Order: sequence, then structure tokens, then C-alpha cells
Amino acid sequence: MITGKTKLLGVIGHPVSHSLSPVMHNAAIAHLGVDFVYLPLPVQSKDLAKAIAGFTAIGLEGFNITIPHKQAIMPFLTEISPIAKAVGAVNTVWRTEQGWKGTNTDMIGFLAPLKQRDQPWTETDAVILGNGGAARAVVAGCAELGCRSIRVVGRDRAKLAAFQYWANSAVTTPLYTHEWSDLATLIPPAGLVVNTTPIGMHPHVNQSPVELSLLKTLQPGAIAYDLIYVPQPTLFLQQAVQCGAIAIDGLEMLVQQGAAALEIWLQQPAPVAIMRRSLQQHLNLA
Ligand code: NAP
Repeated sequence: MITGKTKLLGVIGHPVSHSLSPVMHNAAIAHLGVDFVYLPLPVQSKDLAKAIAGFTAIGLEGFNITIPHKQAIMPFLTEISPIAKAVGAVNTVWRTEQGWKGTNTDMIGFLAPLKQRDQPWTETDAVILGNGGAARAVVAGCAELGCRSIRVVGRDRAKLAAFQYWANSAVTTPLYTHEWSDLATLIPPAGLVVNTTPIGMHPHVNQSPVELSLLKTLQPGAIAYDLIYVPQPTLFLQQAVQCGAIAIDGLEMLVQQGAAALEIWLQQPAPVAIMRRSLQQHLNLA
């Protein structure tokens, strides 16, 4: 029950109506019986400063940040964690006496299902499809795993050059950037292929970032990881499994990045199974 003492959490973005974070966080809050509520807070870019001032005024405990504010939030924070600085984006903020502090839990979320696998990471070559915001957290994650090499595939040479420039200071793992036409040579040696593009999401559910003929060249036991969580499975994962790959979808990353944020706000372990189940039920997957 929401009372006069209920503490406020939320997610800011534009749009936020599609966000699944309120579903899993409020399920966790109800399960733990803590006096919090997690709200969708639509904030346009032009209103970000006013919104943050308002959050300070009303004593919001913390919030998640989604598109388009993950970089723009940084000037409003008194402290940014090393991982958020390395990734260049903040997705979780919490209030302290010194002001707002921020971090990025996307890398923790990305790594969670991979760390459960007994994979020879130092012999694994990773191929990352896409070079946007999520790709940076994925690259930082692959570097932390100790991957032998990271190859990032994009369609815009200027953006690829900017990505390479960022990576040169963010990770020590050998990282190369490629255009999509190089994919035929990148897929056969890859032990991990991660889709960070929206290809395969609604309304393009019949599209895959990698053609079936190329997926057939994957090594047996290679991991195909799609950051997309709806539909489940994406065409990419469906075809990768047909070709002998191990599939990981984006739902666990979503759950685990949320759990890591909730633990910062509540200072207690997050009920990960409850959060996962709430999303599966919401998405009719359970
Ligand atoms: P973003 O910054 O917009 O990056 C998207 C990337 O995909 C860009 O490199 C973009 O290329 C590329 N791309 C888009 N459409 C393409 C196409 N038709 N062909 C080739 N490349 C294309 O977005 P993001 O924040 O990184 O998110 C990317 C995806 O990850 C989204 O589907 C998002 O839902 C998902 N995600 C999932 C989680 C999770 O917890 N599971 C967390 C974060 C993100 P250009 O730059 O050239 O346009």
C-alpha cells in the first residue's frame, strides 16, 4: 500500500511507456515488503535539468535512466562509478547527502548468464553486432571475461571510428572494427556472437542480423547472444540453435541489471527469481 511515508524510485526516459522496469521492480518491492514504489517518469531531453531539480526537491531515492538520457545525466551527478565512466553511460542513480551518484549495471546484467558458463574465455573471439550504447557495455563485459579478441561490426564508418577511439582507452583487449560485409570471415572463428542491434525486434521479427548460411559456419558450441528480449526467441537465436549454437536471450540481462540497481537502492539482496518470473508472466513467457 502506498502511504505518506512511501519512498519513491522510478525510471526516466522518453518514451518510458514501453519500459518493463516498473513490472519487475514493483514485484520485487511487494515480495520484500519494503515501503517503496517504482514509477515510470516520462522526461523529455529539454526538461532533464528541471526534472532532476524536482527529484532533489521531492527526495526521490533513486532512478534508472533509459534512452535518451544515459549520457546527458552525467553533468547532474556528483560522482560517477569507474564502470559508468568506462562505458560512457549511466543507467542507475541514487541519492546521497553529497548529491546524486551514478553507475551502469548493464555490464553486470550482460555478464550474469555468461559467467554461469564454463567457457574458455581466453580462447574466445567475440563478435559484437552494432556499435551503439549497449555495445559499449557488452565490449566492457567481453574484456572483463578475458576474451582473446573483440570484433565490432557497424554500418557507419564514422561511428565505427568513434567506437574504436573510445575502446582504445576503455579496454585493453585487442579490438577491431568491421563493416557488415566482413561478417563471412568473422563468424566461423567466433566463440561468442552478440546482437546489440534492434534487428529482429518488432516490427522486424522476421529479420536476423546474420544470414542462416553464415550461422551454419559457426563452431559447434559457439554462443549466440541477443540483447533483444521480445520476441523470444528472435529469428537470430532460433536459427543459431538450429546450427548447433547455445542461445542466450536478453531477458536475463534485463533482470540482472535491474537486480543490481535495486540492491544499490535498498541495500539488501534483490529477489532475482521474483523479478524474472514477473517479467516472464508479463510477457506471457511463463
Ligand atoms: P543504440 O544506441 O541505438 O544502438 C543500436 C545499434 O544498432 C547502432 O549501432 C545502430 O547503428 C545499429 N542498428 C540499428 N538498426 C540497424 C540496422 N537495420 N542494420 C544495422 N545496424 C543497425 O541502442 P542500444 O541502447 O545500444 O540498444 C540496442 C539494443 O539492445 C536494443 O534492441 C535494446 O532493446 C537492447 N538492449 C537490451 C538490454 C537488456 O537488458 N536486455 C539492455 C540495453 C539494450 P547506427 O548507429 O549506424 O544507427
